[in-house]
Amino acid sequence: MADISFIINKLTETGSLTRDEIIPLLENLTPEIRQTLAERASSIAREHYGNKVFVRGLIEFTNYCKNDCYYCGIRCGNKNAERYRLSKEEIVGCASCGYDLGFRTIVLQGGEDAYYKDELMVDIIRAIKAAHPDCAVTLSIGEKSYESYKAFFDAGADRYLLRHETADFDHYAKLHPANLSAENRQQCLYNLKKIGFQTGAGFMVGSPYQTYENIADDLLFLKKLDPEMVGIGPFIPHKDTVFADFKAGGLELTLALLSIIRLMLPTVLLPATTALGTIAPNGRELGILAGANVVMPNLSPVGVRKKYALYDNKICTGEEAAECMNCLKNRISNIGYEIVTDRGDNIRYMQGSTKEGR
Ligand code: SAH
Repeated sequence: MADISFIINKLTETGSLTRDEIIPLLENLTPEIRQTLAERASSIAREHYGNKVFVRGLIEFTNYCKNDCYYCGIRCGNKNAERYRLSKEEIVGCASCGYDLGFRTIVLQGGEDAYYKDELMVDIIRAIKAAHPDCAVTLSIGEKSYESYKAFFDAGADRYLLRHETADFDHYAKLHPANLSAENRQQCLYNLKKIGFQTGAGFMVGSPYQTYENIADDLLFLKKLDPEMVGIGPFIPHKDTVFADFKAGGLELTLALLSIIRLMLPTVLLPATTALGTIAPNGRELGILAGANVVMPNLSPVGVRKKYALYDNKICTGEEAAECMNCLKNRISNIGYEIVTDRGDNIRYMQGSTKEGR
């Protein structure tokens, strides 16, 4: 226990731990230690962002995907998935609804769908930015070439989410078919950063075959990459995938990792994810109390939300959805935080210490 206190103090003071410190910390997550981590993490989040929670309107614009990631419900091999894609007009319409609801960040997420050629994506980005110049546009559409990323950035996209999924090459190979590599995914992240995107990486907690050593490597990878955003959430099985019979990642471990990530990357934008809200009814509130400062309500047309099923039982039509901003505002204010109408950039980015801001 003395050792663990030393590790937590070092983490709080320096934001850095070695692999040999992270692993025992993860192995010894008692309720008391998790509480200490959460208190320190939420206090550092408050130091940088006050009691603000930023919202992002998530538009899941296509569930077609050329990839066959073993964990994902919209993998190309899932013949039971009912596929859909939204037109440019539908996407821009959703973004405008979001704008009216108070969102100042629109996230476009989808499978890797060749229908959306670079020119079409550029068109969509430009249209949203033209209609709402004060909105940030975030993309989450997977691995693309440097040139494609650059074209999206030049069209006005501000941020890009691309979870690294797992930093360990062998673990990556257990979660993905052979045509996908951890190396390329990590190279994409470095490319995104170089181009000037506010960049988000991350991983699933409790994914099949994941060890504490893997998680330690994920945390060290995040520290090295130093992204503006980090997305983590529990793995949740999907019935039509290779991993249908694996169990979901744990709530407590996810919360502790949110705290550790906040302490390692103090200004990071850190969502309490939909997956966290799916495994526990108050998961997102607990995430904020553990150091998260972002929530991403669903802004997709109601008719397609269930079809964008990465995992079973995804929450998407109740209080957590974008139409119910008032419910969300109440829930967040009940825990002492406030949903704000704001782009919610990383303050480091605002201060211009990364690439030039927009
Ligand atoms: N095609 C995009 C978006 C992927 S979906 C891309 O490649 O980045 C966004 C994230 O959902 C994934 O990065 C993955 O970490 C997560 N996800 C996928 N399946 C999941 C599951 N079964 N449980 C929990 N999270 C999952």
